[in-house]
Amino acid sequence: MAGAFWCIVEDDRQGAPKKVMAEAIGEAARLSGGNVEAVWLTDKASEAGLEQLGEWGATKVWLLENAAFAPYRGEVWAAVVAELATKESPKAIFGPVTSRQRECLARLAARLGVGLCADAVGFKMEGDTLVGMRPVYAGKIMSKVTWAKSPWVATLRPNVFRPADSQAGKTAQIERPSVTIPAATLAFVERREETSTGLPELAEAETVISGGRGMKGPENYVILEDLGRVIGAAVGASRAAVDAGWRPHRFQIGQTGRTISPKLYLGFGVSGAIQHLAGMRTSKVIVAVNKDPEAPIFKIADYGIVGDLFEVVPALTTEFKKLLEK
Ligand SMILES: Cc1cc2nc3c(=O)[nH]c(=O)nc-3n(C[C@H](O)[C@H](O)[C@H](O)COP(=O)(O)OP(=O)(O)OC[C@H]3O[C@@H](n4cnc5c(N)ncnc54)[C@H](O)[C@@H]3O)c2cc1C
Repeated sequence: MAGAFWCIVEDDRQGAPKKVMAEAIGEAARLSGGNVEAVWLTDKASEAGLEQLGEWGATKVWLLENAAFAPYRGEVWAAVVAELATKESPKAIFGPVTSRQRECLARLAARLGVGLCADAVGFKMEGDTLVGMRPVYAGKIMSKVTWAKSPWVATLRPNVFRPADSQAGKTAQIERPSVTIPAATLAFVERREETSTGLPELAEAETVISGGRGMKGPENYVILEDLGRVIGAAVGASRAAVDAGWRPHRFQIGQTGRTISPKLYLGFGVSGAIQHLAGMRTSKVIVAVNKDPEAPIFKIADYGIVGDLFEVVPALTTEFKKLLEK
C-alpha cells in the first residue's frame, strides 16, 4: 500500500511522547503492515523521546521543532501538518483523542478537504480501504465510517487500542522538513498549571473511580482519592457533581466531559444516566456501588454492590491495602 500512516505526537510538553502514542502507533502499524511515521511538533524534543517513537515502531519521525509550536495553537499546527501532508501524501493521519488533537485534526481534515473519523474505537482494512468504527448517539450505536478520499484522518480513543510493544534498539529515521510557519492568530495570555492531585490523569488511567451526586459534597472526595492512591486510579466525577461545583470540569466523565475507556471503572453514587454512560461504557470492567438497587448503572455493570458508599469505599480501601501489601 502506497503512503505511510502518520501519527501526530502527543507529548508531555517536556519533550517525551505520552504513552497513548504507543496505542496510535501500534494500531497504525497493524493496519499498514508497519508503514508508520510520527509527526512531532514541539519546541523541544528529547533524544529519549525520539528513541521511544522508534522503539514503538515509527520508521521515521518528521521532527518539526520550533518555538512557534509551543504553546499549542490549532491554527499553526494544522496549517503546518497540512502543508507537509500535501507534499508527502500520507495514506492516513491518526492522533489520540486529547484536547489538542481533537481540535488540530478537525482543522486539518477541513484544510485538506477530507473526512474525519473522530473518537474512533476500531478500524479494519477492507481491501485497500480503511473502515473506522465510532460510537454515536451517546454510545448506543456504532457507526462505520469510510472516507471519500485520503488521507484518512482519525482521532483514536485512549485505552482502546493495543499499544505497540517497545522494541529495544529499533530506531526511526529523523527528518527535519522545512515548512512555512504561519503567524499565530491567537495570542497566548497566561498558562495556569492545575494543582496536581498526585493521581493518574483521567484520560490515560487504566483504573478510574467516579464519584456522583451520591458523594454529597466536595469534602467527601477525599475518600475516593485515598482509594485512588492505593489502587493507582484517577478520580473523575459525574456532571451533577461538576455542576454542583464539587469538582472542576476537567474531571467530568460523559457526553459533555471526558470519554474514558479504562480497564476498570468504579462508580460510586452515580445513577448511570445515558450521558454519563456515553463517556465510560466502553470500560472493560464496570463496578457500581449505589444504595438504589434500581439505579440504571447496574444494567451495564459487571459487578454491583447495593449499599452506602460511605461504608463501602473505606472498606474497599482497607481491603485493597491489605491485598497489595502482601
Ligand atoms: C445535554 C446533556 C449532557 C450531559 N452530559 C453529561 C456528562 O457528560 N456526564 C454526566 O455525568 N452527566 C451528564 N449529563 C447529566 C445526566 O443526565 C445526569 O443528570 C447526571 O449524570 C447525574 O449524575 P449523578 O449520577 O451523579 O446524579 P444522580 O442521577 O442524582 O444519581 C446519584 C446516585 O447516587 C446514589 N446515592 C446517593 N447516596 C448514596 C450513597 N450514600 N451511597 C451509594 N449511592 C448513593 C443515588 O441512589 C443515585 O442513583 C448531561 C445531561 C444533558 C441533558
